[in-house]
Amino acid sequence: QSASGLRLTASDVEVRFGGIVALSGVDLEAAPGLITGLIGPNGAGKSTLLAVLAGSRRPTAGTVRLGERDLTGIGAGTCAQLGIARAFQLPRIPSHMTVLEVAMLGTFRRGRGGMLWSWWRGQRELAAMEATAYAQLRRVGIAHLARVEASTLSTSDQKLLEIARALASAPDVLLLDEPAGGLFEEDLPRLAGLLRALAAEGLAVVLVEHEMSLVMEVSDRIVVLNEGCVIADGPAEVVRSSPEVIDAYLGV
Ligand code: ADP
Ligand code: MG
Repeated sequence: QSASGLRLTASDVEVRFGGIVALSGVDLEAAPGLITGLIGPNGAGKSTLLAVLAGSRRPTAGTVRLGERDLTGIGAGTCAQLGIARAFQLPRIPSHMTVLEVAMLGTFRRGRGGMLWSWWRGQRELAAMEATAYAQLRRVGIAHLARVEASTLSTSDQKLLEIARALASAPDVLLLDEPAGGLFEEDLPRLAGLLRALAAEGLAVVLVEHEMSLVMEVSDRIVVLNEGCVIADGPAEVVRSSPEVIDAYLGV
């Protein structure tokens, strides 16, 4: 995996849903080699911000850039091709597909011209895609389940599969929405190790997470959202002791 070395930057982002202001004046930067934790109470706007960063939701104001390039509102497909991958909070597992096939869906994201083109490139390419997908299954620790029907996996393994699918696109930017939610406790250290390894390879990781011990352990920097606004942004130890953050969130 070659990381692009480009920063993903959201500037002054606003998202309104009718009368609801889900995000307002939000700045966030995901830098190569760093894990940016994104925390905040339920409804704070975390998933909405990930959708904006992934290109799947156009903000009502503000911009998203990858390096110098303006990505605002260009769509999730184009963002995926540019190397931005998102793992969903609640993975949508298609029925009647094996774990390996679901992971292979990730490899299509960077293919020129999408699925049809990928199919056209023939069996050799397919074998390469299978190898890529398999490598990511190994990486998250579920390669032994490669031939199992994906929809029969435990919630914990489905979350790991979702991460493998995202990684199979060889992203430069990885957006994770609560990867530890539903994960078995014994899988947490491996997830933490994986995230650190990805950052060490140069990926820019944005980690939305409820599991506070994980965020505090792995994040280089933490952004705290509350009611659509950034109330703190800094190193974990600074954010942890911010009175505003404790008030809005950690003290609950
Ligand atoms: P979080 O992920 O931090 O829990 P969300 O980003 O899901 O928060 O939601 C932020 C706010 O935006 C909430 O008030 C939520 O109800 C609202 N919201 C999110 N998505 C939609 C939508 N598609 N339509 C209307 N309101 C939405
Ligand atoms: Mg959410």
